[in-house]
Amino acid sequence: MNDVGYAERLLEKIFYYMNQLMDEKDFDKAISILTDLGRTLVGSDRASFWYWDTRQKQYWTIAAWGSKKITIPEGTGIVGATIKAKEPIIINNPYEDERFNPSVDMASGYTTKSILCMPVTNEKGKVIGAFQAINKLDVNGLDSSFGDWDVKRLAMVAVFCGKTLESHMLQREAQVDQLTGLTNRRGLYEYYAERIENGVSDRTMGVVICDIDFFKKVNDTYGHNAGDAVLIHVADILQNNLRTGDEVVRWGGEEFVFLLQDKKLEEAAVFAEDVRKQVETDVCKYSGLEIKITMSFGVDELNWNLNLAENIKKADEKLYIAKETGRNKVVM
Ligand code: GH3
Ligand code: MG
Ligand code: MG
Repeated sequence: MNDVGYAERLLEKIFYYMNQLMDEKDFDKAISILTDLGRTLVGSDRASFWYWDTRQKQYWTIAAWGSKKITIPEGTGIVGATIKAKEPIIINNPYEDERFNPSVDMASGYTTKSILCMPVTNEKGKVIGAFQAINKLDVNGLDSSFGDWDVKRLAMVAVFCGKTLESHMLQREAQVDQLTGLTNRRGLYEYYAERIENGVSDRTMGVVICDIDFFKKVNDTYGHNAGDAVLIHVADILQNNLRTGDEVVRWGGEEFVFLLQDKKLEEAAVFAEDVRKQVETDVCKYSGLEIKITMSFGVDELNWNLNLAENIKKADEKLYIAKETGRNKVVM
């Protein structure tokens, strides 16, 4: 093929992916499209976009073309080296390179022959992830090596990835409680609206609202920081009880709300009682202190004909009874 023909075909590919991207609101799918674009542009067998989760201290792929989701510890692998160096890395002989970790190959049965890894940055130039292309193929589909030209092409995709990721993160941040990392009230409204949009609204859902007992006393006795530690401690317990499809949010100061998929009233109450016991048993250790906590629970079943606030209010009335009749209990 001549140069003009090649350039035209390339442009066609770019437009094809960009068109898809413009219609795509789902973040995972958008990244998946960009991953495909990167793979196509550099002509590699595989490509993956790695997101740097600084909280969990790990990298994970949001979408990996032709392979499953993988997590690796922060600082490891070629992705780690690229993020650290803040520069693209090309390796055309991975098995002779000590930065390469062959364990993923060993687990998957895939053989890595060449790698091009590119840092992905946000608007401020901070590295937020990396884009990795694996196994460069020539026009005949045979093994080849990555070069500077591939770096230029992948750099363009990396910019789009950075932008997509950043807008997603900003949107997510607005829905996450800074202290506990749980979804916040706004996030729950979003979740509720999404479920209704997706037609999941005929499904049974348990609603549980819970509130820490005498929390003001914790602040007054041990200080505000200890109070914060208790909130984080409780949030962890609540989070650990979630199954796929469930949601827990920090509804307000020391109040949390669960939405429990497929749980009828009685099942939601059993769940709440289990969580109540865990909170009561699991003391919060903070700066040499052992702080005992209890929580009160109000349980209801979601009525999809009501809006979220109305549903929460119904559960809240049960919580009120739990508070009035001695606390550290579940009322349904
Ligand atoms: P009850 O058993 O009736 O729920 O009593 P309570 O003391 O838990 O409830 P109250 O509403 O009187 O007090 C809640 C306290 O929670 C008051 C507020 O200062 C505190 N609080 C709210 N948000 C935070 C926070 O983010 N960190 C800390 N440390 N305290 C908070
Ligand atoms: Mg309270
Ligand atoms: Mg309260």
